Amino acid sequence: MVRAGLALILVGWASFSLAADRVEYTIQFDPLGNQVLVEMDLPEGETAEKFWMSAWVPGDYERFDYGKTVTAISFFKDGEEVKLAGRDGVNGFVAEDKFDAVKYTVKPSRGNFSYNLFLGRDYAWLSPAGVLGFAEGGLAKPVSLTVKKIDGWKIHGAIEGRSTDSGYTLDAKNHEEIGDSPVVMGRNLATVKFEVGGKPHFFVGFGNLAGVDVAAFGAMCQKAVEQGLKEFGDLPYPRYTFFGEFGNYPAGLEHGTSCRLGFWGTDARQMSGLIFHEYVHAFNVKAIRPKELRPIDPLNPPVVDSLWWLEGVTDYFSEVWRLRAGVIKNEEFLAEMRSAYESTLRNPAYAKVSAAESSRRVFEVRGSQGFGGVSYYTKGKVIGFILDLMIRDASEGKRTLSDTFRALYKETRDEVSYGRTMILDLVRADVPGEERAEELVKLIETAEPVPWNANLVKAGIVDRAGRLVKGSDLTVNQMVVWESLFGKD
Ligand SMILES: [Zn+2]
Repeated sequence: MVRAGLALILVGWASFSLAADRVEYTIQFDPLGNQVLVEMDLPEGETAEKFWMSAWVPGDYERFDYGKTVTAISFFKDGEEVKLAGRDGVNGFVAEDKFDAVKYTVKPSRGNFSYNLFLGRDYAWLSPAGVLGFAEGGLAKPVSLTVKKIDGWKIHGAIEGRSTDSGYTLDAKNHEEIGDSPVVMGRNLATVKFEVGGKPHFFVGFGNLAGVDVAAFGAMCQKAVEQGLKEFGDLPYPRYTFFGEFGNYPAGLEHGTSCRLGFWGTDARQMSGLIFHEYVHAFNVKAIRPKELRPIDPLNPPVVDSLWWLEGVTDYFSEVWRLRAGVIKNEEFLAEMRSAYESTLRNPAYAKVSAAESSRRVFEVRGSQGFGGVSYYTKGKVIGFILDLMIRDASEGKRTLSDTFRALYKETRDEVSYGRTMILDLVRADVPGEERAEELVKLIETAEPVPWNANLVKAGIVDRAGRLVKGSDLTVNQMVVWESLFGKD
């Protein structure tokens, strides 16, 4: 009795304090009008004169200027309208006087990898970073987002929400966190729940579910999570959601506690590369972050020289985890590596632009793949493989690139970030020697040819008629390196 009474008092106090000290967003989907209505209320007693939309969103390294998606906007102070005075560039909206609330409408938009807002006949998708603006000076304040329900539609948010009669409310510590927490609403959400490491995980399928074995997709996602737990020993989130959209925009985008997977096929194994890649990002990019991405500055695109690590090495680990999980075989793993290397040979751009330059200058061009025709996905994947071979060889199979990965994770989680040299410093600790140190810098900072055969040979791997295979008569050390990657035959 006493406890129940106390709980009631606390609940009452908590909801009162929420209303007072948070930025509150309310979103109403309008599928027929193909838009959403957004209301933003500032915390009690606070005002601002400028409102901003994001210039770019995390994970998509191209400037989109989401101010362009706003179709109408009004400001209010104590319920009275305050006029719009003008714009500050394409993303800034300036009011004539101080306001405490903003109402605006936004039309659907998407970046290179995901919709920010998609309104279908049977479902709606919201990735808030490209849809929720913010008042000047308001990025660090705690927020809540209430999504108004549509009758008969179910809802799933990346953050566990509170349901009320009319809406579903998600609380986040700041604008960055709410921006990185998508919500899907739909008539048919096919949900599979599983637990790994004591934490709940969801696969939520939507879109064209015809012919989709949802359980098989859930099982594949579980394999990815199990590899993450094996690699790092813990999971950097309270719960995680794989949003699986079928038959719509085919691409994936990582978020802190979820990812959006746009599937172009219904076979879970064929789609596993996408699943594993986006899930590796729960660690690499979201937990392990360079200082340029912590915190996210939504108005100023960052210059990050390690996107080759954040995307390309993510792709490399995606293959390593698929191999370990038994999703792909040795031959398929090696074929993936060879195909990435071949791409760097076929394209003369790779002889001109380094992995670091391709990373740094990505915002100068479109597409979020790299700069100057060099994909930091492809080059970074090759570099990941080479670094792994170097470490395995230098340590006689005792250390691997996973040790580097774990050390980075340990150093940078809990909201710390890595600086310019940390990755190389960690690799160097496992690959000692002046000459090798030079080789490492060359691999990343120059466009010189990748030392391919010189490193394959360390694991006894040979290229035979266009296929990478295990050579014959391996030395003891070659055998140790081979077995550290692929196990005993
Ligand atoms: Zn990625």
